[in-house]
Parts: sequence; C-alpha cells; structure tokens
Amino acid sequence: VATWLRTAASPDTGDEGSGDGGTAERGTDAADRPGASASGSGVLAVPVVATIAGLAVLLVSSRHGESQVTVGLAAATLVVSSARTVIAFRELGRMGDLARLARSDDLTGLPNRRALYAEVPARLALGGRNALLLLDLDRFKEVNDSLGHDVGDVLLVQVGLRIGAQLGADDLLVRLGGDEFAIFLRDSGREEAEVVAMKVRSALAAPHTLEGISLQSSASIGIALSPEHGESLGILMRKADMAMYRAKVRRGGHRVYHPVDDSHGDTRLRTLEELRAALVTNQLVLHYQPKVDLSGGEVRGVEALVRWNHPKRGLLYPSEFLELVEDAGLMQTLTERVLELALDQAAVWHRRGERLTIAVNLAASSLLDSGLPERVGVMLTARDLPATALMFEITEAFLLDDRGRASDILGRLRARGIRIAVDDFGVGYSSLAYLRELPIDELKLDRSFVAPLNGDKRAAAVVSSSIHLAHSLGLRMVAEGVEDAEAYAQLARFGCDQAQGYYVSPPVPAAVLDEWLAARLTADAGTVQA
Ligand code: C2E
Ligand code: CA
Ligand code: CA
Repeated sequence: VATWLRTAASPDTGDEGSGDGGTAERGTDAADRPGASASGSGVLAVPVVATIAGLAVLLVSSRHGESQVTVGLAAATLVVSSARTVIAFRELGRMGDLARLARSDDLTGLPNRRALYAEVPARLALGGRNALLLLDLDRFKEVNDSLGHDVGDVLLVQVGLRIGAQLGADDLLVRLGGDEFAIFLRDSGREEAEVVAMKVRSALAAPHTLEGISLQSSASIGIALSPEHGESLGILMRKADMAMYRAKVRRGGHRVYHPVDDSHGDTRLRTLEELRAALVTNQLVLHYQPKVDLSGGEVRGVEALVRWNHPKRGLLYPSEFLELVEDAGLMQTLTERVLELALDQAAVWHRRGERLTIAVNLAASSLLDSGLPERVGVMLTARDLPATALMFEITEAFLLDDRGRASDILGRLRARGIRIAVDDFGVGYSSLAYLRELPIDELKLDRSFVAPLNGDKRAAAVVSSSIHLAHSLGLRMVAEGVEDAEAYAQLARFGCDQAQGYYVSPPVPAAVLDEWLAARLTADAGTVQA
C-alpha cells in the first residue's frame, strides 16, 4: 500500500498543474483532467483486484485445513487495508482541491503567481508570438493607507474584473500580489499587446465608486515580448518589470521593454541599497521655502522640503525617491530624520531670536503612527523649543482615512500646540465634512488653482470662494505655487493670508534663506525710510 500511495500521488499532483490551468483560463488544459482522474481510478483497481485475489487464496487455504481463526484474521486485515487504501485515495483527491486553491488568489479569485509559473512555461514551449504584461496600480498604497484596507480590497477586486473584461478567452490574467497583476497574451505581438494595454488602461480610468467615494485608478504597464525579448518566463517577467518601472517613473501608462531599461532596473536596486545608507549617514538635507504674509510681507513660517544629497547623482528631489521610500517601508525612518533636521534648524533660528515656524510634510503612512505625538513632544523638549516652532502638512488623502485614528492623532498633536495644515487643498478627496470635524489650522491651496489665476475668470472664482470658505471656518489660507507678480497681487486682493512660490523664493538651504531674510529686512528698512 505504501508503494502504491507513492505512485498514485505523482500522477495526481501532476494532474493539478494542468487542471488548475484549465480553471484559470477555462480552456485548453481542462480536457486533461478527466483523463487523469480516469487513470487514477485505474490505479485504484489494482488494490481492489489484489484484495479479491487475496480473499480467494484465503478461501482456498481454509478448505485445505488452515485454522479458521488465522484465515479470519488474514481476511480482516486485507479488508481493512483495502478500505484504508480507498480513504487514502480520497484524501489525495482532497489534497488536489487544496492544490487547486493554492493556485488562486483569495481576494479576487483570479489565478495567482503559482498558477502563472505552472501554466506559462508550457505555453511558451509551444512557440509562436506571446506577450507578457505586468501591471501595477499607481498610488494604490495611498488609497489603502488613506481609505483603509477594506476599500483597497474592493478596489482590487473591481480592477481585476475590469482587466478581465478586456481579455480574450485564451489570455491568462493573474494577480501577483498586492496591486500587481500579470497578463499573458498568446499569439500576440507588440501591436496586439499595446492595444490590450491601452484598453486595460482606459477601462481602469473610469471612476470607481467605493463606499460612496468616487476614486479614479490608473496603472503602469510593462510589456515583454516572446521570442523577441526572451523565451523563458523568468526573463520575460524581469524585462516586463523593468519596462513597468520605467513607465511608472515617467507616469507614462505603458511601455514595451527596450534594452535601455535594463540599466534602469539595476539602478533601481542600487538606489534602494543607497537609500538605506542615506538614511543612516547624513545624506538627507532640507531646503526651506518661505511663506509670506500677503498683507504685510512678513515671513513667519517656512516649509521644509527634503532632498537627497546623493554622493554620485547629486541633489535628488522628492519625486525621484519618495515613492521608493514608501515602497521600501522606510517612510517612518525618513519622517523621523526630517523632523530631527527641521527641529535642529528651528533651534538655531530660535536661539537667534527668529521665531520661524517650520512646516514638515507628513506622508499619509506616517500619520497612522499613533506614537508620533509623544515622540514629537520629546524632540521639541530636548531642543527647548515651543510647540509653535513646528507645524505639520498633511494631505486630504489622510483625512478621509481611518477617521477615528486621524482625529485622534491630530487632536493629540494639536493639544500640544502643534498646528496642522491641509496640503494640496482642492485636488484630493475633498469633503466639506472634515473641514468642520477635524482639528485643522490652515489650508494650502494647490498650485493647480493658483497657476491659471491670471486671466482665467473661473479659476479666479474658485480661488476667491475657497479663501472665503477657509475664513468662514476660521482657517488660514496659504496659496502654493505663486510664480508671478500678478498672481501674488490678485491673491492679496482676494484676502488670501499667505503666499508661497518661486515668485517669493524657491526652496533653498537654510544659509541661503538667512541671507534672503536679511536682504529683505534691509530692503524693508529702505522702503520705510524712503
Ligand atoms: P508639496 O508639499 O506640495 O511641496 C511643494 C512643492 O512645490 C515642492 O516640490 C516645491 O519645490 C514646489 N514649488 C514651490 N514653489 C513652486 C512654484 O512656484 N511653482 C512650482 N511649479 N512648484 C513650486 P518638491 O520639493 O519637489 O516636493 C514635492 C513633494 O514632495 C512635496 O509637495 C511633498 O508632498 C513631498 N515632500 C517634500 N518633502 C517631504 C518630506 O520631508 N516628507 C514627505 N513625506 N514628503 C515630502
Ligand atoms: Ca507641503
Ligand atoms: Ca502642496
């Protein structure tokens, strides 16, 4: 029986490979399954026949005078062992079901990574033109962090359905994990693959309604072609991944792999290593951008903006590394480091009698950290700084979040006297409700409203009514991205409280800001005297 179990086990598990592929794409290999299970019952016939033969032998030997007890015991043993065989066989069947389950994704019910690896090599071996598409949702983490995992999950299911609806019966769609999906297209060259990529992207672009919130999703897609780019799944995956990463960096939708992407893939890995090093050595630096009072021209606050002073690549901007920080789960470390740098600088200014408030940006993920208010308190005390030396800028994404935790953390920061601004106001998941409910001091009007201010009557109307709204809620309004004198003057006329932007000053190192402030004071003194 033991030998039989071993031999029966291998055809059965072998069957699962193709059997699941059949479920995955409802086609080709499903036919293998009945065949394989028939051979399984053939295997079961062997012990059944053996049992009958054994019983027959016993019957004959009992006629030849063997003891009734011996024959009875031997017969019972045979019956029990064959019953056990049948049970073992059933268990194998159940293990088969489990193996099939192991090839599908719990959340979306789509085939998973294991299914891809079980299925695609055989298809590639058949030759012909094939395409592998890797798809990664843009800013999914933000949705997850700000609206909660349940909403994130619903979004993933919807995304899976929408992608699936764009594919043919012969195509294979799998969820690789997280917000990554792979599509294997058979008989498909570059053009067909790009058409599918475009169809999938436009299917994802239509708004999703999740718990009453309307969300838009978009994805970056990398495409690798066989035989052009490689003939093994491993190589295609790697190349599609590099193309996908390239697409993501450029926010460019989809991209067919090109050899130049290779070096980029290497860079990405190296960058992550370097990023870890940067966080522990002092490669992160802060630049400060002043916020000017539109009424009197005074500067009472600055925004701290992080830069990475890379040993080889020079000064890198947040757009070049923040996503990587987030992906690598290093945001908390970065926030901590930025806070230390910002508060060290605040201490320098305060010792000199310059009471500048430094605003630090918080990623949605850092604000899920309920230990933050206490740690910030300790950091302020260690530098003998008042709470007014610091404020936080958070985006609306966070505010719609886990509302309870949000107001708790904000409430505790606020109770310590630390002020809160809502960043990029107007472009996020705006809701008037949070403006009323949550403890906020300031709104920062996104620069996309400020930029078209000149000559655009509607933009002007939106800006002026946002300013009124802020004031009627007792909030201060700061305009971001003020790039010219006209916008500056118009915002002042509208009664906006503060302006920030290249027109006033770009973000600069603290030493440069010091000079700028000094020059401004002298100029002011000049105007007063004049
Ligand atoms: P943000 O908070 O909206 O910061 C303002 C961005 O607009 C900065 O880009 C700034 O350099 C840029 N800017 C300022 N004035 C103008 C202008 O007149 N015109 C235009 N077109 N742009 C202007 P930056 O420094 O590249 O930062 C980008 C984003 O990275 C920030 O957007 C913020 O969301 C994030 N960020 C920056 N530093 C940190 C940080 O320490 N922690 C976290 N979590 N995020 C950060
Ligand atoms: Ca900001
Ligand atoms: Ca902003």
